[in-house]
Amino acid sequence: MELYRFYTNDWCKRNDSKSLSIAAFNNSFDDFNLALFSPKKDECDTCVGYKTSNIDEATYQEHQKKKEEA
Ligand SMILES: [Zn+2]
Repeated sequence: MELYRFYTNDWCKRNDSKSLSIAAFNNSFDDFNLALFSPKKDECDTCVGYKTSNIDEATYQEHQKKKEEA
């Protein structure tokens, strides 16, 4: 709810945008969610990429090895 309030009262005004209804907003929430919460700090692009299957096993293992050496 707080996020929706921020969205209607602040974001929409600043962007001169017509606000969505709360229902529509909730439907879009997953997309907003991705933008709002960045990955955990201890996870670099490679680690996140591996979890989302954008990076293959070998690359990830190599990356882990380098991390341990560091
Ligand atoms: Zn990493």
